[in-house]
Amino acid sequence: MDKGSKQELSQALFDMETEIKLLDSSVSNNLLNYLNKVKSTIANVFFFNDDGEAVDVRTDLKCPHCESKVYDNRAKKRDPNDSYYKTKKPDFGCSNFEPESCSGGTWKNNDIDSGVWFSASWWLSSTKIPVEWNI
Ligand SMILES: [Zn+2]
Repeated sequence: MDKGSKQELSQALFDMETEIKLLDSSVSNNLLNYLNKVKSTIANVFFFNDDGEAVDVRTDLKCPHCESKVYDNRAKKRDPNDSYYKTKKPDFGCSNFEPESCSGGTWKNNDIDSGVWFSASWWLSSTKIPVEWNI
């Protein structure tokens, strides 16, 4: 799907949501649920940033510490049906959850005795996002 088509889709979804919200809540709630399902499905492939611009979910990101695949969580965090990702997940996370083989993660509270390992992760607000990702 090209960029222009994604923009049209974004505008259509926005217009649809605006129209639905003008309806009586007895029908609008059900329609909004369907609309959110459509948005969830789209979130697997691309998402719309705050400027309404379509951004593809990246599947080519590699952890600079261990070369493992890095998950791009940006779309899921915008998924209206997924409050867990929205509040708890970093924008990008290394798929390697083994402390022995990825040096980028941390123990909870920097305490190995916590037994809780957080894999390497990056937030969009951070300046530590690897430049080679071209984010
Ligand atoms: Zn890693």
